[in-house]
Amino acid sequence: MIKIQNYINGTFIDSLSNNTLDNINPATGEIINTFPNSNNKDIDLAVKSAKKAFPLWKSLTVKKRSEILKNIAYEIKENAEKLAVSESLDTGKPEWLSRKMDISRSIDNFIYFANAIKQYSSNFNSMDEIAFNYTLRQPIGVVGCISPWNLPLYLLTWKIAPALVTGNTVVAKPSELTPYTAFLLARICKKINLPDGVLNIVHGIGQNAGDPLVKHKDVKVITFTGGTKTGKIIAKKSASELKKVSLELGGKNPNIIFDDADIDLAVNTSIKSSFLNQGQICLCGSRILVQDSIYDDFKNRFLIKTKNMRTGDPKDKKSDLGSVISKAHLDKILTFIKKAKLDGGKVLCGGKQITYKNKFKNGFFIHPTIIEGLSMKSDVNQKEIFGPVVTLTSFKDEKELVKLANDSKYGLSASIFTKNIKRAHRVASLIEAGTIWINTWMLRDLSVPFGGMKESGIGREGGESSFNFFTEPKNVCVKL
Ligand code: NDP
Repeated sequence: MIKIQNYINGTFIDSLSNNTLDNINPATGEIINTFPNSNNKDIDLAVKSAKKAFPLWKSLTVKKRSEILKNIAYEIKENAEKLAVSESLDTGKPEWLSRKMDISRSIDNFIYFANAIKQYSSNFNSMDEIAFNYTLRQPIGVVGCISPWNLPLYLLTWKIAPALVTGNTVVAKPSELTPYTAFLLARICKKINLPDGVLNIVHGIGQNAGDPLVKHKDVKVITFTGGTKTGKIIAKKSASELKKVSLELGGKNPNIIFDDADIDLAVNTSIKSSFLNQGQICLCGSRILVQDSIYDDFKNRFLIKTKNMRTGDPKDKKSDLGSVISKAHLDKILTFIKKAKLDGGKVLCGGKQITYKNKFKNGFFIHPTIIEGLSMKSDVNQKEIFGPVVTLTSFKDEKELVKLANDSKYGLSASIFTKNIKRAHRVASLIEAGTIWINTWMLRDLSVPFGGMKESGIGREGGESSFNFFTEPKNVCVKL
């Protein structure tokens, strides 16, 4: 069995306390490997190493740092199969999805930021004949990256790549539930001779390892993706040290189907936006809002397709869904379904745990679930479930739709299905969300600003927004 280790100053080491935790495959309940249960001492060591590496790393040319990132991307590509299998073992998601989404996007993250940095230009402003100004964008120092379990390597690299290419050094704390591919990434960094200390990965629990990273006085920037509750704690703790913070948090996204939509497109896309990755994507459209004149038609088609979905063996290419991340998460999802029934909701399909008699007998599987008949005020429509559970609600007209869609504390994303282009733009401008998709879902351009409004987050990452976040602007005024 592999023993996952921390990666600090270019060396693989155990936690200083020698404590370890077991890493569970949620599809089988079996232990896959062990990983360090790190604490503030390990974080301190990692921050010291990142701080020491900063002067040399920031002094490298952009071209050199960009080449190093491309070498990482190349090695991820070379090891894509091993990474995909490991990601699936760690998360319970289907292997095909790990290959197609997680690992391929991790490669894209490094390639994209390695190329985009070369197009990143700074401002110049002339004061007629008196003076001119130019703005330097300089790296800040040690960046703390904290990432969740749903898209482990994909979201970790989304943060690491722009932080590194702009000249910062990094201490990353992956989710305790999914440490495997972060460890394999560390091995890749070692192989391609990333200078020691530039990237440090410390494993452990949020309270023990994430918290000291957030509070560490030498960590100047925190980029966090995770739940809103944790995001608020991190915001408070970072504020006392005036750290720069980016928070990519939860969502309860509306999927809006107007009566003039291409119904096949709306149904097929809703299948993906509801259940991809077992519904454990912050961008999943968990509230489906359908115009009343096509409600029954949409419902029937969506129901048939959902009932035909296969949940099971993550290695089986025919599995649409694998297991959810943990027993605690499965229990949380089932509790929400119970609550939906108590609130008068009707479960149209799913709603139950799937139990197997084979090697998956200890796994955490659940049928994709559709619920209708709930008020928008019910918990199930207001709280993020983060599982394969969606609600169906009908609306009369645009006015009612906008009210329903915005009746949420979250504001991450929304999808609108309509053939009426004027209506699409009009509604897009009225919905409170950081990303609006028209006639599609999760079509990501890495150069556009990505993030949430309201309780879905603070700040934007992606393209120039990432470069702005990971650098400090410094204006230089030259008198002529
Ligand atoms: P959590 O907020 O529980 O955890 C996220 C990370 O924070 C983990 O690494 C966790 O460690 C760590 N952490 C927990 N407590 C603390 C703390 N006090 N101080 C510092 N770090 C801490 O989120 P989940 O892992 O459950 O991820 C799911 C959530 O992420 C959902 O709400 C989802 O919407 C959101 N998300 C948002 C995205 C976006 O782009 N907006 C994208 C993807 C997910 P540990 O695992 O050890 O607890």
